[in-house]
Amino acid sequence: MGVSRAERPSDRSRQGRGQDRHVLQPREAPAWSAPARTASGDAVADMREAILAKLAYVIGKSPTTARERDWFAATALALRDRVVDACMGAGRTVPNKRVYYLSLEFLIGRLLSDAMNNLGLVETTRAALAELGIDLGTVEGAEPDAALGNGGLGRLAACFMESMASIGIPAIGYGIRYDHGLFRQSLEDGWQRETPETWLAEGNPWEFVRPEATYTVGFGGHVTMSAVSEGVIRRQWHPAETVRAVAHDVPVVGWRGAHVNTLRLWKAEAEAPVDLGQFNGGDHVGAVSSRSRAEAISRVLYPSDSSMAGQELRLRQEYFFTSASLQDLLRRHVAERGDVRSLHDHAAIQLNDTHPAIAVPELMRLLLEDHQLSWEDAWHVTSNTLHYTNHTLLPEALETWPVELMERLLPRHMQIIYLINWMHLEEQGKVGRHDAAHLAAVSLIDESHGRRVRMGHLAFHGARRVNGVSALHTELMRSTVFRDLHALEPEKIVNKTNGITFRRWFHNANPGLTTLAVEAVGARVLDDPEALRGLEAFATDASFVARYAAMRGARKEALAQIVADRTGIDIDPSALFDVQVKRIHEYKRQLLNVIETVALYQAIKAEPHRDWTPRVKIFGGKAAPSYTQAKLIIKLACDVAKAVNDDPEVAGRLKVVFMPNYSVSLAEAIIPAADLSEQISTAGMEASGTGNMKFALNGALTVGTLDGANIEIRQHVGPENIFIFGLDAAGVQARMATPNYARDAIWASPRLAAALDMIASGRFSPEEPNRFRPLVDDLRHRDQYLLTVDFDDYWRVQREIDAAWNDPAGWWRMAILNTARMAWFSSDRSMREYAEEIWRVKLG
Ligand SMILES: *Cc1c(COP(=O)(O)O)cnc(C)c1O
Repeated sequence: MGVSRAERPSDRSRQGRGQDRHVLQPREAPAWSAPARTASGDAVADMREAILAKLAYVIGKSPTTARERDWFAATALALRDRVVDACMGAGRTVPNKRVYYLSLEFLIGRLLSDAMNNLGLVETTRAALAELGIDLGTVEGAEPDAALGNGGLGRLAACFMESMASIGIPAIGYGIRYDHGLFRQSLEDGWQRETPETWLAEGNPWEFVRPEATYTVGFGGHVTMSAVSEGVIRRQWHPAETVRAVAHDVPVVGWRGAHVNTLRLWKAEAEAPVDLGQFNGGDHVGAVSSRSRAEAISRVLYPSDSSMAGQELRLRQEYFFTSASLQDLLRRHVAERGDVRSLHDHAAIQLNDTHPAIAVPELMRLLLEDHQLSWEDAWHVTSNTLHYTNHTLLPEALETWPVELMERLLPRHMQIIYLINWMHLEEQGKVGRHDAAHLAAVSLIDESHGRRVRMGHLAFHGARRVNGVSALHTELMRSTVFRDLHALEPEKIVNKTNGITFRRWFHNANPGLTTLAVEAVGARVLDDPEALRGLEAFATDASFVARYAAMRGARKEALAQIVADRTGIDIDPSALFDVQVKRIHEYKRQLLNVIETVALYQAIKAEPHRDWTPRVKIFGGKAAPSYTQAKLIIKLACDVAKAVNDDPEVAGRLKVVFMPNYSVSLAEAIIPAADLSEQISTAGMEASGTGNMKFALNGALTVGTLDGANIEIRQHVGPENIFIFGLDAAGVQARMATPNYARDAIWASPRLAAALDMIASGRFSPEEPNRFRPLVDDLRHRDQYLLTVDFDDYWRVQREIDAAWNDPAGWWRMAILNTARMAWFSSDRSMREYAEEIWRVKLG
C-alpha cells in the first residue's frame, strides 16, 4: 500500500527537481552481504517497527501518507539509532590522542547505503522495508546528495573520515554546514546553467544539533596593549563584530560498526538575532540585517575548484570554521587533560590545503590570550600540533590574501603573522642568509604583487609535517613552490599518496564485482583489500571472465538507461564506454578528448567502411560559474555530440554524451560501467587524482599521462595493463621553455590541424560560426596545457586501445588484473601512513 502511494504522480511531482533519485545501482541482494542469510525474522521485525515508529513519531506520517522522502528520513533515523548504539557500545574512554581534520569541504554524498553496509544491515533493512511494501533502492534514491565540496579535495576528506572510523583512528572532522552545497548543473542547449542546491530543504536526519557547543568568532575591530608585569606586554583583540558558530554533528560509522567518529559542521548564527534597539524603534527590517550578514558565512559553498576565490566572504568562512574548531578542541583538551601545554601530545591537527591555514596565528592567539602562554611555549605547542596537506602547485590556486584585507578583518592575526615572519627571517640572518632574494623567497609576505600573505608559506612554517598527495607531486613540491623552505627543513615534506574508501567505491558502488571477488577469493577481501590479489589467478579463467563480462554488461545497461532518461540519447551497451568525468578545468584537458573525438569523427567519415571499434564517449563535470573557457568546452562537447549523434554515417561507431550534474551518486553509477578511464592532465599539474583510482579498482583501463597517482597506478597494475601517452613532467617543463611549440605541433600533425579547422569553421556551431574561435585561437597561439604537443601520441594510444578492445579475452584479463592490484590505493592505507608517520597516533 505504501508503495502505491509513493508512486503516485502527485507525490512524485512534489519531490521537486529530484533528478538524482534514479541514479542507483541495481540493488540485487549481494551474496556476500551476510545479514541476507543470517538476519533472523526478529531483526527484520525490529527494524520494521523502528522505521514505522520514526515515521509516526518523528515525521508524523502514516505508511499511507508517507512520500519516498519520508520513508528515507524514517529509515535514516532508525539507522542513526543503531549508529548511536555502536558508539555507546564502544565505551566512552578518552583516547590518548585524537586527530582533528580541518577541511573547508566534505563531499560526502549519500550516507544511507554507507551506514547500512558498515553496520551489516543492508539485507535486514531491505527485508524490513519490503514487508512494508517499500523498495530499498527507491528509499536510497530519495536521499539528497550532500555536496559540501567541489571535487577531489572534498571527496578525499570524506573518504578519510570513513577510513579513520573503519581502522579505529579517534578523529573529529571539522567543516562548515553550508545551507547550499555545490550548485546543481543543467544544460540548456549545451550551455551550463547553475541552480541552487537545497539538500537541507527538508532537514537532515543524520545530524545532531549541539547548541551547547557554540563558540563566538570575531571579525574586525582593534587591538589594545597592556603591560602585565615584569615588562611583559599583553595584547588583546576587541572585534567589532561577532558571530556564533553552532555545532552540528554527523556520526561517521566505520566498517563493521567497530568505531564511530564525528563530523562536526559549524553553522553561523547572529550573536543577537534581532537588534532590540532598532526593533523597538520600529525598524523591523533593519533590526535583522546584521543577522543576515552573520548567517551569510555558512550560506553557500564557493564553487571554485583549483582556483583561488579572493573575496572577503571566503576569508570570513575560512576564519570562522578554523576558529570555532580550535576553540572546541582546546576546550576538550583542557577538560580532559587540564594543561594546554600538552596539546601536541594528545591532538594532531591536519589542515586540508591552506583554507584553514589561519589556524597558525589563531592557535597562537588563543594560547597567548586565553591561556596566557609565553610566545615560545605557544609556538612550541602550535608548531608541534599542526600539519598541512598541499593539494596543488598551480599558481592560480595558491592562496594569498592582501595584507590590507587581513589588517581590516583580522588585525590581531596580522600582527601575529608579522611577528612569526620577523622571527623566521631573523633565524635566516643567524645562519648567514642575509641576501634579499633568499629572504623574499622564504618570507610569509609576498611583496611583489602588492603586499599579500602567502598562506602556503604560513601553513608550511607553522606545521610539523607538510605532505604532498602523490610521489610526483611531493617531489615537485620540493623542487618548485616550496624549494627554498624545503632547503631549510629537509625532513618536513613527506609524501602521503591519496586513497579512496573501498566500502563506498567497491562494496556499495559495485556489489556485482564485490560478489565475484568474494566468491573467488573469500569474504576476507571485505576486510583486507590485499586479498584482491587472489583475483590474478582468475584473470584467464574462462568461467570467471564470462561472469565478469556479464557483470560489466549489466552495469553498462543500467547506465545506458540513466543516460537515456537524462539526455534522451541511446547508447549501445556493447560499445566501448570511454569516460571522462571530473571538474572541467583546462589542465585536466577535456578539450584534448573532444578534439580527438572530432578527429575520430573525421576519420570514420573518410573511411566509413573500415571496421571501427564502436565507442561511446561519456563526459561529465561542472565548471566554476565564472570560468568562461571551461563553460565553452562543455558547450563544444555538447555541440560535437549533437553533430556526431545526428550523423547516420557514423551511427553504430561513435556516440558522444555529456551527462549533466556530475555528483558522487552519479559517479557511483558511471564508474562501474566504464571500460576506459580518461586521466589525461598535463603532466605535473594533477596533484594526485582519485577518480583514476576509483575507475581502476572497478576494472576500467586507464588512458593517462605520467601525472599524479597515475604513475603509482602504473607501478601497481603493471605497465602492460595501462595505456600511457604524452610528455612526462620534465618533458612538459622543457617544452614550455621552447618558443612556438603549439604552432610547430599543429604544423607537424595534419590530423590535429584538420580537427582544429573543423571546429574553427563553425561546423559544430552553424548558427554562430565563431563560437569556438577563442578555444582554437588559444591553442594555436598559447596552448598553456600542451594539448597540441600531446595530441598525436594520444591519437596513437587511442587506436591501440581500439585494437585491444577487439581482443575481449585480453581486455578482460587486463581489467581483472587492474582490480586485483589496486588494494594499495585504499584510503585505509593512506590513513595508516598518516597515523604512523605524521600524527603518531595509535589505532583503536
Ligand atoms: C572522485 C571524485 C572527484 C575527483 O575526481 P578526479 O578525477 O580525481 O578529479 C570529483 N568529483 C566527484 C563527485 C568524485 O566522486
